Amino acid sequence: MTDNPELQSQLEERLEFLERRIAGLEGDLRTTHSQDWEERASEISGDEVLEGLEGAALDEIAQIRAALKRIKGGEYGECHNCGKDIGAKRLAALPYAVLCIDCASRAGS
Ligand SMILES: [Zn+2]
Repeated sequence: MTDNPELQSQLEERLEFLERRIAGLEGDLRTTHSQDWEERASEISGDEVLEGLEGAALDEIAQIRAALKRIKGGEYGECHNCGKDIGAKRLAALPYAVLCIDCASRAGS
């Protein structure tokens, strides 16, 4: 599994989408807060939700970047733990999987 231009472009598209989303979330976080205390409290909890979303998107970005690096290095599709093929079905469901199904279930994720 060294040559996979279709998957690579899919991952690059997803990466671009997430980066745009992050930029949008940061824009929301920077909006000026109102001075009203009650409103301010609800805006702060909204910020926490946004920060959670941002964290999840950043995690995914890191995983996609690592997968792209593995594609370029010709290591994509190999289990990071045992070196076996991760399997097309698992990769279709989770394109940036680093572990085969056996190692992943052993790791409890
Ligand atoms: Zn494995």
